[in-house]
Amino acid sequence: MSEFLHRDCPACGSSESRSEVRAGKAAETMSLDALRPFWAGLFKEKCFFSYHRCVACGQLYNPVFFTPGQLGELYARMAPNMDAVGDAAIVATQQGYFARAAANGGLSGGYLEIGPDVGHIVRSAAQHGGFDRFWLFEPNVAIHDQLRASAGGKPALLSTGMDDLSPVLDGSVGLAVMVHVLDHLLDPLAMLAQIRAKLRPGGTLMIVTHDESSLLRHVMGKRWPPFCLQHPELYNPATMKALLGRAGFADVTVEGSRNVFPLDFLVRQAAWAAGVRIRRVPLPPVPVGLKLGNILTLAKVPAQAAARSPMLEAAE
Ligand SMILES: [Zn+2]
Repeated sequence: MSEFLHRDCPACGSSESRSEVRAGKAAETMSLDALRPFWAGLFKEKCFFSYHRCVACGQLYNPVFFTPGQLGELYARMAPNMDAVGDAAIVATQQGYFARAAANGGLSGGYLEIGPDVGHIVRSAAQHGGFDRFWLFEPNVAIHDQLRASAGGKPALLSTGMDDLSPVLDGSVGLAVMVHVLDHLLDPLAMLAQIRAKLRPGGTLMIVTHDESSLLRHVMGKRWPPFCLQHPELYNPATMKALLGRAGFADVTVEGSRNVFPLDFLVRQAAWAAGVRIRRVPLPPVPVGLKLGNILTLAKVPAQAAARSPMLEAAE
């Protein structure tokens, strides 16, 4: 045994798994101290915990990973998100996410988001939705003022916690949102069960994650960027649907989502991948929408309030 956490499948609890993706530098063979510079992204060399596939349910996950205490410490030292692709592209991408959720209805009651960052989707929700209250769980205190402003003067409760939703009124939320959050959580099922309890009957949960069954993943192999120290598990449409079903959600749809990038950024990335270094690209930063192996999942709480999560019942 090492200083790290050893765990069973986070989706179904089975202990049987097969190794599927192993980094040149397998994190489970290293010490916490040796991993710190890799966590901070100081080296180009790929380093992550080995991903196994659950034999029982097909979930891809790390049987060995950081403990909750180690994670808390690592995230606390992490530099705030660097907007490498530029703010306009991020805003356009996130507005696209909100538009997709809006098409699904449920734009009233409370708005709940885990990891909203500076609040791009919050701003859209405050402008275009009929939400009466915003519940925002964002660990980065440095951006709380910006986040609060994005709620546009609507009542907003901000919290730095990421795993305890108890301040939120049960059955009050019309739309809950998690963009690139679920695959960072050690216990995704517990978070989904909490969110389900906060949603009102007919309420919607929107999740954006990477897709480990995407073409990009298969083309890039272990160089696929989401194989990293920050993702203790990764999803595909089937495992996402199964997990949400286990947490008591219904009407689950999973679709490819669109990321918007400035054209000059894409050209630079393509050149970099080809081994050519381009400092300045003489192209306008035209936004381009691409489906790049991310999936957007929508799930509903059954309209009948009496329906309860099978998992919660089992826990009682
Ligand atoms: Zn499993």
